[in-house]
Amino acid sequence: MKKILVLHTGGTIAMKEDLITGGVSPDVVNPLMDAEITIPHDVELFVEDIFNVPSPHIMPEHMLLLKNRILDAHSQQFEGIVITHGTDTLEETAFFLDTTIGHKLPIVLTGAMRSSNELGSDGLYNFESAIRVAACPEARGKGVLIVMNDEIHSARYVTKTHTTNVATFRTPTLGPIGIVTKQRILFMQELLETEHLDTPRMDGLIPIVKAYAGMHGDLITTLAQSQIDGLVIEALGAGNLPPDTVPAIQQLLEKKVPVVLVSRCFNGIAEPVYEYKGGGKELQDLGVIFCNNINSQKARLKLLIATNNQLSNKRLTTFMQS
Ligand code: ASP
Repeated sequence: MKKILVLHTGGTIAMKEDLITGGVSPDVVNPLMDAEITIPHDVELFVEDIFNVPSPHIMPEHMLLLKNRILDAHSQQFEGIVITHGTDTLEETAFFLDTTIGHKLPIVLTGAMRSSNELGSDGLYNFESAIRVAACPEARGKGVLIVMNDEIHSARYVTKTHTTNVATFRTPTLGPIGIVTKQRILFMQELLETEHLDTPRMDGLIPIVKAYAGMHGDLITTLAQSQIDGLVIEALGAGNLPPDTVPAIQQLLEKKVPVVLVSRCFNGIAEPVYEYKGGGKELQDLGVIFCNNINSQKARLKLLIATNNQLSNKRLTTFMQS
């Protein structure tokens, strides 16, 4: 029998709709704990209600707790892990686990867009699909995966794209890594190896700032005068910023505060291409680090992992770009 560890953490998949008010909230007992689902005949589930929170309540401590439980599971002969999670921050927890855990064991996250008693609820279906993927040998070595709505996405690149649609998870630029069909689990892409780095803590303050037309430097100047440990900027297009922001960024870099840049575009990656004031080339020459194909919320987690490992200079740049 294949031992699969299931860790429930909360989210809509574990919630119920109040039939009078229409409000959706956690139930006293997680409805997933006694859910009737069909699992592959050679799979044995070991279920733990590790915590039960809506995913906007997820803190670094929850991510660390999950990571440590999974690291323990490696020595307990489990062949796969399934985590149920709220969808709002699911991509962040998944990315954190993907970056910190280098093992080949399949780790699959899933959730639901409709709560357990809503018409067309997708929770149990996604849960079953996630178990099938976690138990399938081809899922080994594919990094942390997200399974929702018959698609398999890599935690590294997936993002939530719709507030309510069950097809909310999308992988910009690349598409899903595989699909779940009635009979098979099919992988269509391989994942490139990247660097994994564990961390015992996620301390520090790293905000995200989004660039926009007409942006001045004041917000970044205020941040430069406060005690931040890093800054992630969602820049324009290929990786450019309005010129007024440059002196404030310089202040941060002079204080040795790392500044990481991603693009606010949904597809493509940020690169130092443009040579005008505030253009990507100038930013890179100043010491801004361009991140490779991850969004700002993931770049922020990656920078926290890096700063908690005291990475700096070239080592920090290499890690952030891997
Ligand atoms: N707000 C909910 C949460 O993230 C949404 C969901 O679970 O899909 O917990």
